[in-house]
Amino acid sequence: MTSYLLRHARPLGGDPVDVLLRDGVIVEIGPDLDADGAVVVDAEGLVALPGLVDLHTHLREPGREDAETVLTGTQSAARGGFTCVHAMANTSPVADTAGVVEQVWRLGREGGFCDVQPVGAVTVGLKGERLAELGAMADSAAGVRVFSDDGICVSDAVLMRRALEYVKAFDGVVAQHAQEPRLTEGAQMNEGALSGELGLVGWPAVAEEAIIARDVLLAEHVGSRLHVCHLSTRGSVEIVRWAKSRGIDVTAEVTPHHLLLTDDLVRSYDPIYKVNPPLRTADDVAAVREGLADGTIDIVATDHAPHPMEDKECEWSAAAFGMIGLETALPIVQQTMVDTGALSWEQVAEVLSARPARIGRVREHGRPLAVGEPANVVLYDPDAARTVVPGDTASLSRNTPYAGRELPGRVVATFLRGVPTVLSGELTEGAHA
Ligand SMILES: [Zn+2]
Repeated sequence: MTSYLLRHARPLGGDPVDVLLRDGVIVEIGPDLDADGAVVVDAEGLVALPGLVDLHTHLREPGREDAETVLTGTQSAARGGFTCVHAMANTSPVADTAGVVEQVWRLGREGGFCDVQPVGAVTVGLKGERLAELGAMADSAAGVRVFSDDGICVSDAVLMRRALEYVKAFDGVVAQHAQEPRLTEGAQMNEGALSGELGLVGWPAVAEEAIIARDVLLAEHVGSRLHVCHLSTRGSVEIVRWAKSRGIDVTAEVTPHHLLLTDDLVRSYDPIYKVNPPLRTADDVAAVREGLADGTIDIVATDHAPHPMEDKECEWSAAAFGMIGLETALPIVQQTMVDTGALSWEQVAEVLSARPARIGRVREHGRPLAVGEPANVVLYDPDAARTVVPGDTASLSRNTPYAGRELPGRVVATFLRGVPTVLSGELTEGAHA
């Protein structure tokens, strides 16, 4: 197996040092290491981070391979610096059995670009009627620990309670898509003065906040852990902050797009900005940034949601919800949180790697950059800049809301178990297990 010497990398943005990867492990860190047959990678000026871990990715396989496959989605993930992604369950068929989650898990391993940790559905067929085979998915080769009906809220309080109780047996977590269904019937954008002006049905903040408030109380009542998907409002941040102060075992995520974009963009009526939960106000954006900086929000998760162009290039109300985001996540976190002084690179490693791995109970990812640890590493140039071009992605879909926008940073290399999946900014042939 080829060894790689990362010359003058800056672990967590610190002082330059050499890092030697061999046999899937970080074997040495120090000044002026002897290459000793290793391939030398010039990492001068590059920040080294542990391979990124996404807790919220839609890979669309099985069922919508025209939008994304496990292979193309994991290639896109590798280009974004990820070494592990959690694949959401809303595929066709739904990932609600051991058979489907094992298939998705295996496709990730065979592709060799990024480990895929499947998320199991909470309810059969995402129908919200009865619990799926949570235990069988947990015991499968995929070892599922995260369960979610993402895209649909587990709105029935009794079912949610049962799911929270059930997953305790195998240290699982329920990741809730917090959307009160009756309050959001036909909803198209954030509810406010602007939705009235534009004549689009509003998605009120309370529809998200009411479910989060209910769920943290349910989690407290049954003594289970809860994860809140893509939190997007100031009130949601305040509820999670209150819950944590009470000692409730809750974690929360924010997406890159909710850290950057506001509902003003909907004025264009361009469905590229249509997403669930919707883009919110500038005040909400400020609140989620504060929440991420002070640890109320634990992680950044992409909610990468590929759609074919015909589902986005149509009138607003007919368009699909969602945007791709694996390859722009780290640049947006840099722009909104690092370049503003709100987070250090060390904290970026926490919110984009260590904590999502911990929430998902993934043991081989999100580890420190230290001798003896798995060689999952990303090299990132924070001084590079680029203008986003929709076609410049490994994803099969092009629905990025950042077209034409200048973003900082560039992933130069990604290593999965010591093998590059991206080198010199280009995909390799992968790291076949
Ligand atoms: Zn969702």
